[in-house]
Parts: sequence; C-alpha cells; structure tokens
Amino acid sequence: MKNKNWREALLAEVKPDRFRYDEPLASYTSFRIGGPVDLLIEVNTRAELARLISYCEGTGIPWYFLGRGTNVLVDDAGLRGVAFRFGPDFARITVEGNSLRAGAAAPLALVAETAARYSLSGLEFASGIPGSLGGGVFMNAGSYGGEMKDVVVAAEIYQPGTGFITLNRDELKLGYRTSVLQETGGILVEALLQLTPGDEATIRAAMKTLNAKRRAKQPLEYPSAGSVFKRPTGAFAGQLIEAAGLKGHRIGQAQVSPKHAGFIINLGGATARDVLALIEEVQNIVFQRTGYRLEPEIRILGRE
Ligand SMILES: Cc1cc2nc3c(=O)[nH]c(=O)nc-3n(C[C@H](O)[C@H](O)[C@H](O)COP(=O)(O)OP(=O)(O)OC[C@H]3O[C@@H](n4cnc5c(N)ncnc54)[C@H](O)[C@@H]3O)c2cc1C
Repeated sequence: MKNKNWREALLAEVKPDRFRYDEPLASYTSFRIGGPVDLLIEVNTRAELARLISYCEGTGIPWYFLGRGTNVLVDDAGLRGVAFRFGPDFARITVEGNSLRAGAAAPLALVAETAARYSLSGLEFASGIPGSLGGGVFMNAGSYGGEMKDVVVAAEIYQPGTGFITLNRDELKLGYRTSVLQETGGILVEALLQLTPGDEATIRAAMKTLNAKRRAKQPLEYPSAGSVFKRPTGAFAGQLIEAAGLKGHRIGQAQVSPKHAGFIINLGGATARDVLALIEEVQNIVFQRTGYRLEPEIRILGRE
C-alpha cells in the first residue's frame, strides 16, 4: 500500500453509493462482531470485479471477499485494505430444466426456495443455512446428510491473475467444509446446480422438518457463526465440548451455547478477542479431557 491515496485511485470508476470508507463490519456478520474495514466496495459487474482485484493485486493492497458473513469472525481492529461484496446483480437465480443457475450473492435459503417452487429436489438441506451460494460453495456447506457437493456441477470463478474460468465439480475439489477456492483464492461468481424433479409438497415438508430441527437444537436467538469447529474424525465437536464440561462456559460476552455446545454465541457486545480466547480455551480443555484436537470451521479475518 505504497500510494497514500490508494483508496481514491481504486475508486476512480466506482459509483459513490457503492463504497464506504472505514465501515464497521459488525453489521455485515452474523456474529455482530468486527471493527472497520478501510474500504468496503459493492461490486456489480464482472469487469469491475476483475479491474478492482487486479488493481489490489498489482499494488499490494490486501483484499477480502465477504458473502453474507455467517461463517466469519472479523478482528476487533477490523481489516486493512478492501472488503468486497457482490451487489444484487450477482444474486440472480434462473431455472434451466432440472438445473438452477444462481449468482454467488444469492442467499442459499432463496436458492432452496426457488428449487421447491419449481418442484426440484436436492436443496432441502440448504434451506436453513443462512449464507450465500458463494460462501456455500467455498465452504462446501452441508447439513442433515446433504452438502453443496451433491448438487454443484459447474461454477464460474474469477481467478486473480488468470481471469474468468469455469470449473467442474471435480475441479472444485469439494470436501468436508473445503473447496479448491480455499487454496487458490478464486472468487465464485455463479454456479450451476443439478437437481432432480420431485413433488413440491414433499420438498417443502422436508424443508419444514429440517428447519424445525434447527430451531429446536440451535441457539438461533443469539448472534453466532454457526458451528465453530469442524467435526473431528469419529466424533462430534458439540458432544466433545459438552463431555469436557464446557457447555455454558463463558469468556467476556462470548459463551459456549447452553443449547448447542458446538456454537459460540454473542451474549451482546462480545469482542473477537472474547471469542478467540474462548476458542483457544475450548481447544485446550477438550484436548486435555478427550484427546481430540478441534479445528475451527469459521474463517478468522484480520489476524494474519
Ligand atoms: C445459525 C447458523 C447456522 C449455520 N448452519 C450451517 C449448516 O447447517 N451447515 C453449514 O455448512 N454451515 C452453516 N453455517 C455457516 C455458514 O452459514 C455457511 O458456512 C455459509 O456457507 C457461509 O456463507 P456466507 O455467504 O455467509 O460466507 P461468509 O461467512 O461471508 O464467508 C465465508 C468464507 O467464504 C468466502 N466467500 C464468500 N463468498 C465467496 C465467493 N463468492 N467466492 C469465494 N469465496 C467466498 C469468504 O471469503 C470467507 O472466507 C451456519 C451459520 C449460522 C450463523
């Protein structure tokens, strides 16, 4: 970031209503935690995405990409550089026979709802996941036996330094809460989801059952980022945390949910520091008492 006026240079062609200086990120995350980013930009065209990211890459300006912020913990000091988000032009969903083509910013719940409306089965599992399609593929989000890997057949990616490319399911390397995007830094722009014809009432009934299970088991009444830890081989993170006696354990305003020990909740005014300290304590105590090492699933932004 050699150029002191880097923000002005970067913003030369961005409309004033689509960027903000020093924008606090707490309200862009489901945890309701996070300090300000130097510059937040809403990107609305592919050309703009390519131009802005190339500029950042070429000048060494750090950049981040945010979806719906439901799987991230942003540092209290915020982020230096730029955070990009996609605007509404990247949230379109179209139906092509038994497939759906959806933009990265489309909420997963809306993609699942559209599938149901067209009597297409395969996305029932996703109707209660609060993230975007882009974040969903990046994380290979999944629940109740389904995952993005089951439905994604191809995706358009913006690969910094290369340009726009299409990757098929195998090339996306979708695994448990992982994808090739976590290695390459590629940005998912759009994805094609292959579904199967079904019965709308049956699809909706399945969605309703899964969402009722979620409400019964998850602390949806508090800000959180969902399950904090990945599932270790042969065990469940929530059960290990509970077995270690940590249900309800608290540091500052961050608490291991008394309802679901796999979640850390923000009781109101929690800081990233509280959450990080609690994560570390849970990791240490669970290791001492059960021998399992828990790895965070959530993405921690701003403490590199
Ligand atoms: C109450 C609650 C319940 C949840 N339940 C589940 C669940 O059942 N299953 C599950 O898997 N997850 C669950 N989650 C976690 C979360 O919703 C998913 O991981 C979701 O896929 C994240 O999407 P997002 O748009 O919010 O991504 P963000 O949190 O904004 O970002 C997550 C990561 O994805 C990257 N990213 C975002 N968009 C793009 C893009 N277009 N291209 C490239 N990278 C991108 C970001 O850079 C970041 O590294 C839950 C979260 C909450 C709060």
